[in-house]
Amino acid sequence: MEPLFLYNTLTRQKEKFQPLNPPLVGMYVCGPTVYSDVHLGNCRTFISFDMIYRYLLHAGFKVRYVRNITDAGHLEGDLDEGDDKFAKKAKIEQVEPMEIVQKYTLGFHEVMALFNNLPPGIEPTATGHISEQIEMTKKIIVQGFAYVTNGTVYFDVEKYCTNNNYGILSNRKLDDLLTNTRELNGQDEKKGRLDFALWINAKPEHIMRWPSPWGWGFPGWHIECSAMSMKYLGEQFDIHGGGMDLIATHHTNEVAQSVACNSTQPVKYWMHTNMLTVNGARMSKSAGNGFLPKELFTGNHPLLERGYQPMVVRFFMMQTHYRSTLDFSNEALKASEKGFERMMNAIRLLDNLKISNSSSVNIAELKTLCYAAMNDDFNTPVLIAHLFDGVRLINSINDSKETITETDLVELKKLYHNFVFSVMGLKEETTAKNNDELAEGLMNAILAIRKEVRSKKDFTTSDLIRDELKKINIIVKDTKDGAVWEQEN
Ligand code: AMP
Ligand code: ZN
Repeated sequence: MEPLFLYNTLTRQKEKFQPLNPPLVGMYVCGPTVYSDVHLGNCRTFISFDMIYRYLLHAGFKVRYVRNITDAGHLEGDLDEGDDKFAKKAKIEQVEPMEIVQKYTLGFHEVMALFNNLPPGIEPTATGHISEQIEMTKKIIVQGFAYVTNGTVYFDVEKYCTNNNYGILSNRKLDDLLTNTRELNGQDEKKGRLDFALWINAKPEHIMRWPSPWGWGFPGWHIECSAMSMKYLGEQFDIHGGGMDLIATHHTNEVAQSVACNSTQPVKYWMHTNMLTVNGARMSKSAGNGFLPKELFTGNHPLLERGYQPMVVRFFMMQTHYRSTLDFSNEALKASEKGFERMMNAIRLLDNLKISNSSSVNIAELKTLCYAAMNDDFNTPVLIAHLFDGVRLINSINDSKETITETDLVELKKLYHNFVFSVMGLKEETTAKNNDELAEGLMNAILAIRKEVRSKKDFTTSDLIRDELKKINIIVKDTKDGAVWEQEN
């Protein structure tokens, strides 16, 4: 296979992908903060990395994919200020913070499955790795890059900058960063205005707290990803991803923490997805313009004209490159729905195409173009354009305007299977409603057969039907109005 090139935020250019320890690829993606439902913008980032994960697997790499769950330490502001998001939500819903975490983690998994995202190999939580975060913080203090004030440990950005480039990832100069940060006042515990917390002293009202060498407290948001990526992928690993909004603070601080701890750049390729926007504004929880995936599927939201199926939404996302902004609109989704159906219809046709002695179509060329698109920084919109050229060929073969040999047809089927299903992660839509209708129809048919055999006094077959259904927890009861069924849990 031709080499894969990917865009590296760190070097701001496309680079040939050369894993540190091939064929193993270590990939870490910042996961959700589970204090509320994920919105479609979050999903865009996770779907993009799912596609990247799938392509790396398809290319023959063995990927150790780690995506964390942030379930502690994320305050309302990115700069260690404001309330704890989990505690605040727990207070509103009158439950334990860990009940909030559980509820939204389950909801997140459900949404990921609906979008057909593969689960990561490891899904570590911040609360499950407190000791690793404490150990890393201790080491950063020992290395001289952090200090303790009133039970809170701060990272010393100024000290770090004496030998390191703090703005390496965001490509910003220290002076600009300082100009854009508020000045410290007498009440601040930190020494420098860019300093950030590795460990935060818990105020009396803070519920989620752990003992540490610096007293009771909780980890800062950034240290969790440095500690967990190091634990599972090592001091240096291949790919670290997340949305572009994480570059300026979260990922910048991750780089600083890891370099301070291990004296080496932690990540070879930093990859960032661009934002999903609505009427040009970034979709976010705080802006109130974030629809939940379920609202999108049902159409139950003022901005939505109607509902759209998960695979149509996934296809819509694949039609834009992951590093370009993607603006949401009903029109764009309707167009994607048409495109998705056209693609699926063509794939269905593949099973019934007539075979000829010679091919008038060039399948090898189509295959080369598809791989070239994906090897050019996972360019799914160009891939889809080539696949639509292929759809035209399939339709022409079906209309006997073009011909295909058996060998080429096998290749063509493999090509669509690989790129549409395995790499882009699309699948035929079967909605829950369809499944319910199907179950209802099948049960009606089975009970009609049972009624028929009972009318012929064939009670052996009638009982056999009832017993077989019982094995799959379906209970049939005979009432004066006929047989009824229910599912037993
Ligand atoms: P959060 O739960 O807010 O920590 O975000 C989880 C992931 O979603 C992060 O990688 C964010 O960068 C990403 N994200 C947040 N908003 C958007 C958006 N509008 N479009 C794409 N990705 C986003
Ligand atoms: Zn992170």
